Amino acid sequence: MRNKIIAGNWKMNLSLSNAKELTTEVVKKVQALKLSKEVKVVFGPSAPYLESVVSLIPKSAKENVSVSAQNCHEAEKGAYTGEMAASMIKEIGCEYVILGHSERRKYFLENNSLLKEKVDRALNAGLKVIFCCGETLEEREANKQFVVSQFQLENTVFKLTEKEFKNIVIAYEPVWAIGTGKTASPEQAEEIHKFIRKITADKFGKEVADELTILYGGSVKPANAKELFSKPNVDGGLIGGASLKSDDFISIIKEIL
Ligand code: PEP
Repeated sequence: MRNKIIAGNWKMNLSLSNAKELTTEVVKKVQALKLSKEVKVVFGPSAPYLESVVSLIPKSAKENVSVSAQNCHEAEKGAYTGEMAASMIKEIGCEYVILGHSERRKYFLENNSLLKEKVDRALNAGLKVIFCCGETLEEREANKQFVVSQFQLENTVFKLTEKEFKNIVIAYEPVWAIGTGKTASPEQAEEIHKFIRKITADKFGKEVADELTILYGGSVKPANAKELFSKPNVDGGLIGGASLKSDDFISIIKEIL
């Protein structure tokens, strides 16, 4: 059965004490929800807090709750001052890394060929990847939303083997909806998610496509989560702003149940 995932991308926010408080509160409330094993909650703290957040997840919650880094370097190790190796992220107990986020593409000029190297490195280290794709406003206005995601996927995760691809979660994140308060309508999200599942089936077969978790990201909040998650191809969300407040994040988690 396909996993449902609610992942929080904290970006470069929160103090260490806020991060710990948020983790503790969410873990406590998630445990009370007694989630089935297909429902996963993922915290995405900034690098300096990763280990602390991992340490706050009790063994009893690990089946449902895990931690993701927001980036990794493409090299195995070496003289890359300020960077973080995928193996280090794995070693401290993270399960995922987010790659291909539009902020990394825009501010750090990460292109598809670099992202493919990062994906390879992450998978080799034993991490799973939450891989983001999605169009800008200009591209949507030119009705290019389908080809943009297709191009981004074909030049990155669709180059993996079928076995490798099973460790990929795709997050469709229209750039115009990230941090803007504008959300794609449930119908807009569904038509791209359905398309992504179809091109995945064309590439890897129906069974792999049916198992693929496809998240929607872009101004998800408690008020719009239920409708978005009610769509058959929307398997959860990658949540930015609303993942920073425990009540909002928990309300969103409840909408996937
Ligand atoms: C994100 O950064 O991945 C995101 C979806 O942000 P927000 O929810 O704030 O739009």
